[in-house]
Amino acid sequence: MSEIKTIEGVDVRGKRVIVRVDFNVPVKDGVVGDDTRIRAALPTIEYLVSGGAKVILMSHLGRPAGDGFDEKFTLAPAARRLAELIDAPVAFASDTVGADARAKAAALADGCVLLLENLRFDAREKKNDPAFCEELASLADLYVNDAFGTAHRAHASTAGVASLLPAYAGFLLAGEVETLSDMLDAPRRPFVAILGGSKVSDKVGVIDALIGKADTIIVGGGMCFTFLLAQGKTVGTSLKEDDWVVRAGEMIDKAAAAGVKLLLPVDVKVADAFAEDAATRICSVDAIPCDMMGLDIGPETEKLYAQAIAEGSTVFWNGPMGVFEMQAFEHGTRAVAEAVAANKEAATIIGGGDSVAAVNKFALADEMTFISTGGGASMELVEGKVLPGVAALRS
Ligand code: ADP
Ligand code: MG
Repeated sequence: MSEIKTIEGVDVRGKRVIVRVDFNVPVKDGVVGDDTRIRAALPTIEYLVSGGAKVILMSHLGRPAGDGFDEKFTLAPAARRLAELIDAPVAFASDTVGADARAKAAALADGCVLLLENLRFDAREKKNDPAFCEELASLADLYVNDAFGTAHRAHASTAGVASLLPAYAGFLLAGEVETLSDMLDAPRRPFVAILGGSKVSDKVGVIDALIGKADTIIVGGGMCFTFLLAQGKTVGTSLKEDDWVVRAGEMIDKAAAAGVKLLLPVDVKVADAFAEDAATRICSVDAIPCDMMGLDIGPETEKLYAQAIAEGSTVFWNGPMGVFEMQAFEHGTRAVAEAVAANKEAATIIGGGDSVAAVNKFALADEMTFISTGGGASMELVEGKVLPGVAALRS
């Protein structure tokens, strides 16, 4: 596959560079809460600013109706936050491709930044509408995509506009693609993949793809019960997907045929209700009571998984081991996070919204090699899908 071109080394001085960033941040009372996504784009923005470019930023925020301005989803708070984080003037346009955006883009001085209003105030963004792409492209000389989190969507700002201007990847997007592609194409072995989360149906693509690549696959979370059913066990009132039992059985067989170790829990923490204060106990997966549900992996499983994780030279983790949002069922996820963090020999890569939230909750993010910002985009990349926003940047 051809390389993606990054902006590194491109002469941007005096050029108008329109950059797709992911500023889809939480906002409350006009103030940005968690600004991780804004910070993640700073290397690219600062590189362009110090190179003397006129930097025009565009992003979506939330899910507005798409019929014009909606106060709830304005990017103005993101512009204010960005201005606090960078050493350059940050202007804000009250529209996306309208009169204000055009005037402010035209007046922009070298080394200055302009953020356009929410792309999704215009319904044409999500439709990848050709006229909207033209209007975005007309604001600039060059295009940069640094929004890895939306690279799996073929929208105007992520796909269409890339064919109208010289197009490059920003550092965040390039780093994500490179890390995840290298992990899949040339992992240091053993390659251990830990998969959890709620449903098998959400993760089949990822599991299938990894059966062809990993040496060991560790399964936890709600989806383990569908695998246990495929092994003929009973799982009480645990989360289960009856329509996926056969498919889970096929995956077990496929892993065995490929010589991939597939580890399933040997014990679980069961509860009499989906609640923090439920009555709980630990039981073997061969003895799950018919009126209880498994909400976490058990201590024997934690030991087994920690051992397998310690043996990995590449460790990829997606999906919590239990309902980690509740303290009563966070232990398994914490144990796995600690085991991954403790393996200093390995490249440790964390992907998926809730898995990253879990790692942050346990304050272990700094111990990992790479935390993917992608969510859905990371998973689609791991599944081997072509991401439209990435394909548009290949030479
Ligand atoms: P990610 O966002 O990292 O890809 P998922 O969205 O697939 O992860 O799954 C996360 C969710 O799975 C969490 O909300 C967690 O509570 C839930 N979960 C984990 N284990 C169980 C379980 N045993 N029963 C029900 N839900 C579970
Ligand atoms: Mg999730």
